[in-house]
Amino acid sequence: MTASRAKVEPVTCLGCGCVCDDVNVQVSDGRIVAVTPECPVARTWFGDGSVPERVLRDGAAAELSDALTEAAALLTHSAGRVLVYLAPELSTQAQRTALALADLLRARVDSATSEPAAAGLLAAQRRGRATATLGEIRNRADVLLFWGVDPTTRYPRYLSRYALDPEGSHVPGGRRGRKVISVHVGEARGPAGAELEVTLDPADEIGALSVMRATVLGNALDPLPPALQGAARAAGELLSARYAVLVHEAEPSRLTPDPFRAEGLIALVQALNGPTRAALSSLRAGGNRSGAESVLTWQTGYPLAVDFAAGFPRYTPSTRGLASAGAGVTAVLIAGNTAGLGADASATLGRVPTVVIGPRASEAPFTARVAIDTGVAGIHEAGIAYRMDEMPLPLRPPLSGRRSAAGTLEALLTVVHQRLRERST
Ligand code: SF4
Repeated sequence: MTASRAKVEPVTCLGCGCVCDDVNVQVSDGRIVAVTPECPVARTWFGDGSVPERVLRDGAAAELSDALTEAAALLTHSAGRVLVYLAPELSTQAQRTALALADLLRARVDSATSEPAAAGLLAAQRRGRATATLGEIRNRADVLLFWGVDPTTRYPRYLSRYALDPEGSHVPGGRRGRKVISVHVGEARGPAGAELEVTLDPADEIGALSVMRATVLGNALDPLPPALQGAARAAGELLSARYAVLVHEAEPSRLTPDPFRAEGLIALVQALNGPTRAALSSLRAGGNRSGAESVLTWQTGYPLAVDFAAGFPRYTPSTRGLASAGAGVTAVLIAGNTAGLGADASATLGRVPTVVIGPRASEAPFTARVAIDTGVAGIHEAGIAYRMDEMPLPLRPPLSGRRSAAGTLEALLTVVHQRLRERST
């Protein structure tokens, strides 16, 4: 018997927020055996493409129709006290259907938007935000400042594809035409090989951002302590840019950033947009997390923490996340992959009846009332996903034949709709 081999190209990778759409995948006998170009995060994310295909009720195997009926009964019974959580690895189409369920159920909605990313979103709502697409960065950025982050590990192709190496329409020399400023904040290091390196103690970080902003605005400053003189030099380099880009990590890491970092960077970029042009690039994780924020924003006007209890969307950013499932919530619907849930969230969900629909639902770290496994957006499921710069891109799955998350959520929506209609007549 000969093994069936196929090369699928180009595939869109959701391994990180770069959402590279030029990935080639080799499939042999229904398994992914090679991913090119080389990217360790992509290789881990694609794996061999195998996912569980179970349907469980209270941990025991069940028929899909019975599981959907049970899920609908639980959710409609709790209407007005439901939390819908948009976890990663869903297409935008599936996220939109989950949101429609939340609307019907008058639920609270939240997503896997991390605390650091939320801090940036909330600061942007207060101040506005100058940002850019990754294509614009590639084509225009001649000075790049990395604030306490080296994208190489978590976003392996960010530098080679967008920010540093490629030739751009306004930066024909590629890396030679770009100046790099690497700001190290404590242990959080910027990339090596920068033209200017600035080392800051974490306690000086916000002061350094203030000094840089004041320098850019042309404010007179008293003589600076040695710890902040590098920050003033970096501001001078930014002022020499035709197009400066500041890059920061917007996802959780071992090193918790100062809660005012995002706001300080946003304010600095705004100040730079007087004397020159500048943009802030926020590094975001994969799994279409940014898509959840986009869907929420276009449907409700808010990117996270939306409450439909009043019959219309209200913004409640102070009660965010799965921790809120403990307060007045009597049922939870998780749409997406639960793999990234922390111990606290899992413990909370172990106490509240929960329906999980998404990739690896049957492997949730708590016993769900109903768990329905589906394929992974981008590996088994087509649709749209959003890049870290909020650009929508089509997904071209290399594998097929798995249960669709969008289709399963659509089926649940139909049953929930029916039940609610019956209840009201
Ligand atoms: S950089 Fe990110 S999106 Fe691009 S191939 Fe690697 S993991 Fe996938």
